[in-house]
Amino acid sequence: MPNVPVAVVTGSNKGIGFSIVRALCHQFPGDVYVTARDPGRGQEAVKKLQEEGLHALFHQLDIDDLQSIRALRDFLKEKYGGLDVLVNNAGIAFKVHDTTPFAVQAEVTLKTNFFGTRNVCTELLPLVKPYGRVVNVSSMVSRLALGRCSGELQQKFRSDTITEDELVELMTKFVEDTKKNVHEKEGWPNTAYGVSKIGVTVLSRIQARMLNEKRKDDHILLNACCPGWVRTDMAGPKAPKSPDEGAETPVYLALLPSNADGPHGQFVSEKTVQTW
Ligand code: NAP
Repeated sequence: MPNVPVAVVTGSNKGIGFSIVRALCHQFPGDVYVTARDPGRGQEAVKKLQEEGLHALFHQLDIDDLQSIRALRDFLKEKYGGLDVLVNNAGIAFKVHDTTPFAVQAEVTLKTNFFGTRNVCTELLPLVKPYGRVVNVSSMVSRLALGRCSGELQQKFRSDTITEDELVELMTKFVEDTKKNVHEKEGWPNTAYGVSKIGVTVLSRIQARMLNEKRKDDHILLNACCPGWVRTDMAGPKAPKSPDEGAETPVYLALLPSNADGPHGQFVSEKTVQTW
């Protein structure tokens, strides 16, 4: 098996993910994969990069689909014997004025942003090689939403001992509480996207802790980050940052040098560790 380093970015056919791939094509010494749930959109992105003189590869990945995640896992195992850089960027957000019932928005948003991202991690983290880098794209909104949770929930989400199972239970409870329309009474903020990103940030803290406990000698660094407010289909044309600017912090974390011992298990914005 050739020892070519490999980087994978989820949801990279457009937006910040596409710009992360573009930057990695320039800076990462190995193969870089655009992944997309729709192969047509993914190939189109590869072609666009080719026109810029950049060479990216493509593999299908729908993070809502466990079979699709496992197909990518098997491909990476077979072709590369693992993975060096994983950027979990894929995500969704309902528009502010969307009239879809809140409970549906909660279920759909959590399904992709939290449960989909978690499934990718469950399948791909064991493949990450020594000195690998993992970046989970969260949002500053996760911190704002945390501040609007009840004291009891805040304590749980800030805990250094919360387990992944406990986090999954809490994320599931949020969805169930919205269905019964008791989420606010139960201490949740009124934002499905915000809660989904609390899930991503806390998941990252837990995963980093697990790496410390189980694979300390592998020097893997895993962090959550916010790209800033970026002009994409998700955030609209009024945002101050271009997608390339939004890619800067995720790419910085994806390319932390092999002699770096941090950041690890942090929430990072503008290349700076934030308090959680
Ligand atoms: P975007 O332009 O809407 O792009 C989202 C990407 O995720 C698209 O490629 C989309 O694919 C993909 N995706 C959605 N669901 C997927 C699934 N189930 N499986 C695989 N891919 C899926 O949004 P963006 O602004 O670049 O956002 C990228 C990340 O940054 C997200 O996690 C977002 O929450 C986060 N973020 C963005 C901002 C901002 O201001 N833009 C701020 C903070 C955080 P399709 O083309 O097939 O839909």
